[in-house]
Amino acid sequence: MRRIVLKAYAKINWALDVLGKRSDGYHDVEMVMQSVDLWDIVSITEKDKGISIKCHMDGIPLDKTNTAYRAAALFKDRFGIEKGLEIELHKNIPVAAGMAGGSADAAAVLVGLNRMWGLNLQEKDLMALAGIIGSDVPFCVVGGTALARGRGEEITALSPAEGIWLVLVTLEQRISTAEVYGKLDLRKVSVKPNISGMMDSLQRRDFEGIARNMVNVLEEVTVELCPQINTVKNDIMRQGAIGCCMSGSGPTVYGLFGDERAARKAYAALNPKYSQCFVVQTTGLGVQVVEVVS
Ligand code: ATP
Repeated sequence: MRRIVLKAYAKINWALDVLGKRSDGYHDVEMVMQSVDLWDIVSITEKDKGISIKCHMDGIPLDKTNTAYRAAALFKDRFGIEKGLEIELHKNIPVAAGMAGGSADAAAVLVGLNRMWGLNLQEKDLMALAGIIGSDVPFCVVGGTALARGRGEEITALSPAEGIWLVLVTLEQRISTAEVYGKLDLRKVSVKPNISGMMDSLQRRDFEGIARNMVNVLEEVTVELCPQINTVKNDIMRQGAIGCCMSGSGPTVYGLFGDERAARKAYAALNPKYSQCFVVQTTGLGVQVVEVVS
């Protein structure tokens, strides 16, 4: 039986702006995205027919609404492949946390099936399929550092901002991205990010500039649903972060640190207080193949 195992990396948003609502119900966004070295393990094994999903974690759908299932079904359908699949997800990326965990799993399935079934699709073809699954999936296929436009699926790669130390805190409350966008009133947004300022600061690796430009317009809405975000931000800043910001629609908050020592010290102080706390580095990967059995 053919089998492939992949790492599916989480993302944070260095900056997130919403430009307006579109006629198709989505919003036009402008986001600076970044992969981080926190990953789910996606194991795909060929079987005779059908698609089944296994996951050790409660609360993850195992049916056709799972993003990994949707990616597999789309791929099989698009290329008329009869063979079936068992997909096992080992989740490390917090769920419904603004870190694109579900999107990363879907991206890993697309990359994995392309490799396992030898279709030799180009990255742009995989990204087009990815966009059908969800707005964040094309970014997760390529990973690294990128500007995302449109509803998030139009990706322009930026020079990689790798090896930057972050501490992430995810609150237990799960946040619905749809609810946050639904509650967003652009007339009430008080601070807009400077997207080109962020890209420039990343390019120059100017940490003060990055910190200044870490702005997410969804933060004010999510704080109404989950006021504890402000407490987390204060806690992270008190531990010596250069800056901190919410990722995606939350409730993950990340702090930017100048080096590993500072990040690990902050992590040691925050970890006892928060059940989901991580120290990570930024990375240039969205998906990585770790094992192939053919
Ligand atoms: P995004 O930043 O793309 O909005 P998120 O990190 O906020 O994503 P996800 O972790 O992708 O959110 O989960 C959102 C919802 O999707 C979950 O509540 C879960 O029910 C559903 N879901 C479907 N497939 C998956 C999957 N493979 N992993 C996690 N959640 C999934």
